[in-house]
Amino acid sequence: MRPTTMKAFVMRDIGKVGFMEKPIPSAPGPNDAVVRTTRALVCTSDTHTVHGAIGPKHDLTLGHEAVGVVHRVGSEVHTVKPGDRVAVNAITPCFRCENCLSGFPSQCQAMLGGWKFANIKDGVFAEYFHVNDAEANLTPIPDDVPDELAVYCSDMLSTGFAGAEHANIPMGGTVAVFAQGPVGLMATVGARLLGASLVIAVEGRSERQALARRFGADEVVDPAKVDAAEEIVRLTGGGVDSAIEALGSEATLAACIRATRPGGTISNVGYHGHGENIGIPRLAWGVGMGDKTITTALCPGGRVRMQRLLRLIERGRVDPSPLTTHRFGFQDLERAFHMMETKEDHIVKPLIIFG
Ligand SMILES: [Zn+2]
Ligand SMILES: [Zn+2]
Repeated sequence: MRPTTMKAFVMRDIGKVGFMEKPIPSAPGPNDAVVRTTRALVCTSDTHTVHGAIGPKHDLTLGHEAVGVVHRVGSEVHTVKPGDRVAVNAITPCFRCENCLSGFPSQCQAMLGGWKFANIKDGVFAEYFHVNDAEANLTPIPDDVPDELAVYCSDMLSTGFAGAEHANIPMGGTVAVFAQGPVGLMATVGARLLGASLVIAVEGRSERQALARRFGADEVVDPAKVDAAEEIVRLTGGGVDSAIEALGSEATLAACIRATRPGGTISNVGYHGHGENIGIPRLAWGVGMGDKTITTALCPGGRVRMQRLLRLIERGRVDPSPLTTHRFGFQDLERAFHMMETKEDHIVKPLIIFG
């Protein structure tokens, strides 16, 4: 007899997590698929969810960063078949609704609606997970790219690179990346790939400063020692062309605006989880007339983007492996999860190994 249940790591309630048995997703819809999980990554967003970022949830399977092997496909899915190694983005838009067809699939059906895993449906921290609209969202992984690197395309590469892509970096331009967590580090790589001539990383933790240099930062500014925006204006003689907010704090967004030259772009990929409003420093924003643009993005998904991200790993343009600071078996996911909450032992990303 084939097993019909699986282990899943869930949010039981606000502040509470644990394992439970759930049925293996059995019959995918005609456009959908079921994937057997092989590798996953814990994201700081998962900890935000458990602390109530999307309200109370009960027995919701957590996780949105994973790769695996196709287990079953619906009758209308022809681009992948059972047995294929596949990657899927954290965001799984329908690619049919008005927002998707308008060119904003992360806003599928409603604002932020492309985010379905561990939000409006079970996530990927289980032995199997369901993928909607599989032809648009599942991407075969190239033979030369191991699962443990491919899994970084789900969110870290896509979000970090989106930070750089939305920053309107001119060829030879100057860029500041605020915060060098895994997303900020990938924004640093992305800024280099897009032709920045100077990338300034803003980061206080020494181990992350070292990673920033390893991923291509030319300068590192420590916000605990200097006023980061002032220092960036000094280093660039007037401000950067592009500043990337990869933390999600009002003070950091303000620093990005102060660090950017007139006509520059502030690209936000940080999650702003607190307060009713976010302040903009009025004078640094040119009293609303400084031609400073603020852009936002939510982890762009879809098969074609995932193919491109995987190709960057395949061709050696980016190697995300230094982000994996810790490894855990699936059964030890709770320990990994709590380490992501406390950021103890200099954790950047814990890789979760299934099977
Ligand atoms: Zn994530
Ligand atoms: Zn849609």
